[in-house]
Amino acid sequence: MSRPALPPQLARAVSFLWHNPALQPAAATLHALPYGNADIAAAIARWQRFAPLLARCFPDSVAADGRIDSPLLQQHVQDGELLIKADHALPVTACIKARGGVYEVLCQAETLAQAAGLLPPGSSYAELAGDAARALFARHTILVGSTGNLGYSVGVMARALGLQVEVHMSSDAKAWKKDRLRTLGARVVEHAGDYAAAVASARQLAAADPQAYFIDDESSLLLFFGYAAAAHDLKAQLDATGQLPTPARPLRVYLPCGVGGAPGGVAFGLKCLFGDAVQIVFVEPVASPCFLLRLASGDDRLSVYDIGLDNRTLADGLAVPRASATVAGMVQHLVDAVVTVSDDSLLAEVRHQWQQHGLRLEPSATAGFVAHRLAASEWSQEVIPVVWTTGGNGLPDEVFLPLLAG
Ligand SMILES: *Cc1c(COP(=O)(O)O)cnc(C)c1O
Repeated sequence: MSRPALPPQLARAVSFLWHNPALQPAAATLHALPYGNADIAAAIARWQRFAPLLARCFPDSVAADGRIDSPLLQQHVQDGELLIKADHALPVTACIKARGGVYEVLCQAETLAQAAGLLPPGSSYAELAGDAARALFARHTILVGSTGNLGYSVGVMARALGLQVEVHMSSDAKAWKKDRLRTLGARVVEHAGDYAAAVASARQLAAADPQAYFIDDESSLLLFFGYAAAAHDLKAQLDATGQLPTPARPLRVYLPCGVGGAPGGVAFGLKCLFGDAVQIVFVEPVASPCFLLRLASGDDRLSVYDIGLDNRTLADGLAVPRASATVAGMVQHLVDAVVTVSDDSLLAEVRHQWQQHGLRLEPSATAGFVAHRLAASEWSQEVIPVVWTTGGNGLPDEVFLPLLAG
């Protein structure tokens, strides 16, 4: 089968900026999709229903209003000012997966509780922390495959409600991430293979168990809309600073990308809100550019192994060999560009952000800064740059300090 020629830098595993030739105007693209603002509004409404429960489950990290959101920070850089959407400091799990993984657990908890008659009209969702709901949840299991952070977000939320949880982890998942899950009372199943193999095994087991629910990182639209709701949080913060993006001076948002769910959901939400006044840049490790590969080839089946890459990267949250076909179908005409970045540059950025700015980031979460530097020189245009820092505040010292030692 013939397919478009791939950019030569891709298989050479070098860092580069790629403009998506399939980019289309936002309005027409969104109009043609079967999902839109109503789906995001439904996700926001669900987050609001659960706010009292979240405040009750996580009194130490979630504010009294029950919202899971992060600050919008500013950083002065050589060529001006950078906005930082600081999801490394999100409540509950200090990682962007708190938006998707937590959200899908809430969806399933709501479904179970409604079916059992535990949520009569007018009831407060805070009651789901009570004995009747816990007894119900204890009979159900959530399964998920993960490189680490999704499993943790799902695990924290599921265990807080009393659900059983089983996390299938890839061989590249970090040991401390597995230990942290076991401490929560999650079952951790280790796989010799990569992330895709871990997901496949969780999917298969869940299909055979009527009491099990599988959170499918490769195709879940619930995850996607949980992430998409974040666009409204950013808009509210931008409005408060008086910054109004326009197509002539758009937001340029850098989103670290693994399977595509988190950046894809956020991108979708942002394009729904800002249209062409936002540019979306996904950022991937040079060894795992699965989304770029999917966009450039148009082929859902291709993995990074097929072009000779090894999917080995320090950025464990982004070590994914094949993009989500579901997400690619949704955002293939909405992603403006993809930047690939080297492990060395990520590590240098971890150090820089900690030493110069006091931000505690995991390597995956620094990808946007590195990409911004590259894009600022090759793709100059007046923009409002936003770097999305996707995780890291929860890194234990024994994991974080060695990254600084070099
Ligand atoms: C999971 C993750 C991402 C990317 O999310 P995907 O849905 O896999 O694309 C980015 N950064 C961090 C820290 C993550 O854990």
